[in-house]
Amino acid sequence: MPAKQYGPRYGRRVRKQVDRFERSARAKHKCPYCNKESVKRVAVGIWNCRSCQMTFTGGAYTL
Ligand SMILES: [Zn+2]
Repeated sequence: MPAKQYGPRYGRRVRKQVDRFERSARAKHKCPYCNKESVKRVAVGIWNCRSCQMTFTGGAYTL
């Protein structure tokens, strides 16, 4: 029950926004170095391109 950790202090709207960001964070992103869509988030703000093995920092949820 992951929703429980947010507690009753947060409304449904905030939870929905988190959902959207999390989905976007899990999606693949375009690498600024090799232009391939093989960039995945390895940690908050840290991204790694599986094509050119480049690791770089970016936004917490999107590049
Ligand atoms: Zn790359």
